Amino acid sequence: MECIFCRIVAGTAAARLIYEDDLIIAFHDIKPAAPVHVLIIPKKHIPSMNEIGQEDLAAISRIHNKVQVIANKLGIAGTGYRLVANCGADAGQVVPHLHYHLLGGKKLSLTH
Ligand code: AMP
Ligand code: ZN
Repeated sequence: MECIFCRIVAGTAAARLIYEDDLIIAFHDIKPAAPVHVLIIPKKHIPSMNEIGQEDLAAISRIHNKVQVIANKLGIAGTGYRLVANCGADAGQVVPHLHYHLLGGKKLSLTH
């Protein structure tokens, strides 16, 4: 398995998991860009937003439904946070497995 996030899902690569259910997982980013920087991903390998299909909407909904739970766990639900996904080269997407950055713990600038 080549994809690093698929390997995290499979448990063959290490990550600091903070949430998991049947469709999604969340884990701490290894290079945090903010005091709180977590990645929320579908377990299914979807390369980017460009490949989200009808059959993936349960996982995408689940991500949005669980953000508040994860934010609460991280102590940033009250102070606020940003959920952002990069798609493709111009957005700087590096890992080709759909992921949402959950950022918080400080006043965020517009660029990140
Ligand atoms: P993006 O630029 O949107 O593709 O973001 C990829 C993110 O994944 C970056 O913030 C990386 O620091 C993060 N990342 C890459 N490999 C790992 C890993 N093994 N565990 C946790 N985060 C990772
Ligand atoms: Zn993958």
